[in-house]
Amino acid sequence: MAKKKSGNIKEFEYRAEMKQLLHLIVHSLYTHPEIFLRELISNASDALNKVRFRMLTDSNVHDAETDLGVKITLDDKKHLFTIEDTGIGMTESDLTEELGTVASSGTLDYLQKLKDAGQAIEGELIGQFGVGFYSVFMVTDEITVETRHADPEAPGLRWKSTGQGTFTIEEIEIPTRGTKISFKLKKDNYEFAEEWRVKNIIDKYSTFVEFPITIGDEKLSRVGAIWQQPKNEITDDQLNEFYKYIANDTEPPLDHLHLNLEGKVNFKALIFIPQKAPMMFMREREEKTLNLYANKVFIQDDAKELLPEYLRFLKGVVDTEDLPLNVSREVTQSSPVMQKINQVVVNKVLGLLADWAKKDKGKFERFYKEFGQYLKIGINMDFTNRDKLIDLLRFETTKTANDELISLREYVERMDSKQKEIYYLTGEERTTVMKNPNLEYFKKNDLEVLLLHDPYDVMVVPSIPEYDKKKLQSIEKADLELKDSEEQGAEALNDDLSKPLIKVFKETLGDKVANVIESKRLVNSAATLVAAKDAMDAQMERMMKMMDENYASQKKILEINTRHPLIKNLARLNLGDSKDPVLRKSIMQLFEGAMLISGNLEAPTDFVERMTDLMTKATK
Ligand code: ADP
Ligand code: MG
Repeated sequence: MAKKKSGNIKEFEYRAEMKQLLHLIVHSLYTHPEIFLRELISNASDALNKVRFRMLTDSNVHDAETDLGVKITLDDKKHLFTIEDTGIGMTESDLTEELGTVASSGTLDYLQKLKDAGQAIEGELIGQFGVGFYSVFMVTDEITVETRHADPEAPGLRWKSTGQGTFTIEEIEIPTRGTKISFKLKKDNYEFAEEWRVKNIIDKYSTFVEFPITIGDEKLSRVGAIWQQPKNEITDDQLNEFYKYIANDTEPPLDHLHLNLEGKVNFKALIFIPQKAPMMFMREREEKTLNLYANKVFIQDDAKELLPEYLRFLKGVVDTEDLPLNVSREVTQSSPVMQKINQVVVNKVLGLLADWAKKDKGKFERFYKEFGQYLKIGINMDFTNRDKLIDLLRFETTKTANDELISLREYVERMDSKQKEIYYLTGEERTTVMKNPNLEYFKKNDLEVLLLHDPYDVMVVPSIPEYDKKKLQSIEKADLELKDSEEQGAEALNDDLSKPLIKVFKETLGDKVANVIESKRLVNSAATLVAAKDAMDAQMERMMKMMDENYASQKKILEINTRHPLIKNLARLNLGDSKDPVLRKSIMQLFEGAMLISGNLEAPTDFVERMTDLMTKATK
């Protein structure tokens, strides 16, 4: 960060990334300019929470007696807007590092992508990206921040910026703790210096801020801690508004849980399930989830110990009497109270989901479409609740209609008494999976097969050994115990013909395959590739290759259909001359064709050349 000094004023340059972001904000953010007020009040409220928390454990705080609150002053003649708080304030490094920095590099990429795709960047979303403060540039050309940190030694500081690439900082005399932000509104935004308009925005976005807000001399009324109120005294509207406030969402939640636990662990909680999954799934900037309160005092806004990682899409508040009031963050982290609350919350949430699955399928499916991947991740993380999570899985199968999903329970209930295993097949999408030759036997024998095409299914399902005492079995495996179908139509080759043919297959393919065997599963196709008993399925391998280009594929087993006319013809050629070039080429062609179908054929040139050659011979 370049630094220039003129007199008492130091000039700083924004980092390249921040400059780009500012450019995007100033030039592409048009909708909902009023959002700047929500962001400023939310920052003031964060700062007030921080100083209140600090005072619990540290008596050495400047202005310890000052009331905690937010004050807004408007001048509708001169179009001036000022907001002050008695929060924790900022040091010089807060101003350069926290205020002047993008929280996550993903943020910029994400916004840039939206812009490149010609989509409007919604002003409402800005707070979610950790750059809420800069939304003020939607309504002004220059911002002044005057601040004094709670540390008694900290100096008063004035920060100024026009958002054009630089900002300045100078030391000034400020007697009281906290932060004052002021600016002159742009011509189009004069409305935000009018009292009725500002009150109206605060009503819409900030009714749940816990600290008093005053405009001029008037103290606005606050709603307060709604999770402390009895269930029947809270309206749906209040719940929805509260959710929008804490989750920074524009839509109401899908549903909520209001908990009031007394006994081994005591806490009240409001837990919301959003309608939509977070935009950056399991990426970089972690989602803020549950706010933790101890006896109505805010402790922290993202208490990681309260939820397992896979449920971190939940939003809400937990307020407990079981933590000491002068609690520090270290204490909360190691407290068994947190662990107990975590268990109860997980149980209640999974219970609610199971309930929907039973009584409100539509709702469950809406949830599953958005958050199914989180549950799948949970299966290999939360062994206590593994079975409950497995019961929540939903699949397409060879027998489901478009968009229909079934559970493992339903699959098992539909199984014929003779069927002993649960079959699945992995692949990229339904249409290609349905054409996989490995399915032929199952179609013919009317056996249902789960179709896994979500990458998380492909990773998770093989780690589930059995369900309801029935083994989960990939039908791409060589060790399938298949019965010979009763009426297969054509006769299979006898051993005298098939054994020598298999020998030539092995000779021709060499170490390209692990083995060549006679197939029981093929009906219409001549050959297929299957995985050895402990090997990965084709789709899993494809995913491994995408992640690691040096990944070496495991060798497959080639199964050939000795009822197929082509295989019979090859056996006949083999009887004449085992070195016959058409025989050898056909074998290579069958192998590479099967590779092609499983999506693992790397260079198709040889394949095409050979095909041309064979066609030339066939058309002579
Ligand atoms: P976020 O609130 O998501 O961190 P913002 O852009 O709104 O992102 O704010 C950036 C940072 O600037 C805050 O994290 C905080 O450190 C600091 N900040 C902003 N406003 C205030 C304030 N009123 N008092 C103290 N610190 C503030
Ligand atoms: Mg903020």
